[in-house]
Amino acid sequence: MRVLVVEDNAVLAAQLRAALAAAGFAVDAAADGEEGLFLGETEPYDAVVLDLGLPVLDGMSVLRRWRAGQRGMPVLILTARGSWTDKVEGLNAGADDYLAKPFAMAELVARLNALIRRAHGHAQPEITCGDLRIDTAAQSVALDGAPVRLTALEFRLLECLAHHIGQPVSKTHLTEHLYGQDFDRDSNTLEVIVGRLRRKLGERFIDTVRGLGYRLTPPP
Ligand code: CA
Repeated sequence: MRVLVVEDNAVLAAQLRAALAAAGFAVDAAADGEEGLFLGETEPYDAVVLDLGLPVLDGMSVLRRWRAGQRGMPVLILTARGSWTDKVEGLNAGADDYLAKPFAMAELVARLNALIRRAHGHAQPEITCGDLRIDTAAQSVALDGAPVRLTALEFRLLECLAHHIGQPVSKTHLTEHLYGQDFDRDSNTLEVIVGRLRRKLGERFIDTVRGLGYRLTPPP
């Protein structure tokens, strides 16, 4: 899953990037509203963390312009402590959730995960595929009850397929949701990651759908 962080406070932005990367997300960051607006208009993010007090263009304007342009990704806004007017205005402008500063990183990660899985129509954090269980909140995978260790990229790819279980997911979609902007993809192409997943999970879960991409299919 790939997220965008729009935050002008360099210290907080670095903390957000680190916490989200540790939670398994590919993270892009923007330090002002204009850059954030552009990235959110042009890149397909699974969720956005948007500060409201931003240079060049304020967060509320960024959010309104995304929504006016039919950009529907989940957006969590960061508001000043105690500013209920910001929360109300933000929610009315199309925000999906908010956190008041200061906040605990664990809460932010949990809220983002919840927004992303609800956007995909999953009420529960756990997605099952036969005897494969994928816990999107804990970022863990178990096969027939036994934990399987995956790298962050392997988990991201599997989670992407799991959100569309039974349907082919195109390589373009996977590429756009797996990697951040400045990630070196050479040794981590989709084919390589799928190969590693098949070795760890067995061949039966991930199908190659010729011309369409990959599909997570429950075994018959
Ligand atoms: Ca700010």
